[in-house]
Amino acid sequence: FFNKLKVQLSKTRKIINFGINYIFSKKKIDHSVFETIEELLLTSDVGIHTTTKIMQYLTKEVYCNNIQEINPIYLMLKKKMYKFLKTVEIPLQINTYNPFIILVVGVNGAGKTTTIGKLAMKYKEEGKSVMLAAGDTFRAGAIEQLCLWGKDTKVPVVTQHFGADPASVIFDTIQSAQSKKIDIVIADTSGRLQNKEPLMNELKKIVKVTKKLNATGPHEIMLVIDGSSGQNVIRQIKLFNKFLKITGIVITKLDGTAKGGILFAIADMFSIPIRYIGVGEKKHDLYNFSSTEFVDALFL
Ligand code: GDP
Repeated sequence: FFNKLKVQLSKTRKIINFGINYIFSKKKIDHSVFETIEELLLTSDVGIHTTTKIMQYLTKEVYCNNIQEINPIYLMLKKKMYKFLKTVEIPLQINTYNPFIILVVGVNGAGKTTTIGKLAMKYKEEGKSVMLAAGDTFRAGAIEQLCLWGKDTKVPVVTQHFGADPASVIFDTIQSAQSKKIDIVIADTSGRLQNKEPLMNELKKIVKVTKKLNATGPHEIMLVIDGSSGQNVIRQIKLFNKFLKITGIVITKLDGTAKGGILFAIADMFSIPIRYIGVGEKKHDLYNFSSTEFVDALFL
């Protein structure tokens, strides 16, 4: 599994390894070592804010402890990277409510529908019953796409017509799941960001309607973001979190990007749990997020 993850993260891994190999080619620490570390962080999209913090930490440690060898600085860097991610490694506990209601939000194309399909697969394989709500009634093809995932994973999908009120679709789904004693409801939503206000109002309405049927729900408001869009996702997280309280994040498309360092920026800037990472288009290409596996897969 770990070797597979290394391959899936190979684009970001390449950038980091290139820098790490360079610093190990040096005998002693000099300014080029710091420059290389800074460059590898920035190039993999750790972002200026978080990179500055890491560099300040490394510089201080190296000078205060009079470190001259390469290996300790490499280990310090790795330890710092673990530390960032450890704080947001909080797995989703889905046994607490029945049905457990997951509302999936995010901009168009982020990978919501695909992630829902993968989650349906994952939870089914864990022995849970799942029902999906085709709440993206706005994007052409979204309902059909979710139905295909439903067929593939043998999970029921509740739909209404294109353009229907998403809150009504999700209401129907929760009602049906309650009567059938389904364990998990996963609801898709629309992500047309060009219409910010109406979209956020629509999502808020969905939360309100959910609470009518299930006072404790939704139990997870999961934001799906495209890891290949780099620092743009910081703006998206801020926006969604302002209107809805995001309780978990999924970062997709980490297989196709050299910008995997964005996870460190997200972890540093928001204390929102990262639940899963998406590393491909197939149904098993979604992993529980593990800080150690992620850092180890990137750093040699
Ligand atoms: P939505 O608009 O948010 O529902 O996004 P979709 O689920 O339709 O995904 C948009 C595109 O991204 C599709 O072509 C998916 O196959 C692709 N996609 C989603 N997740 C991943 C991933 O982890 N890796 C890769 N390579 N592609 C992905």
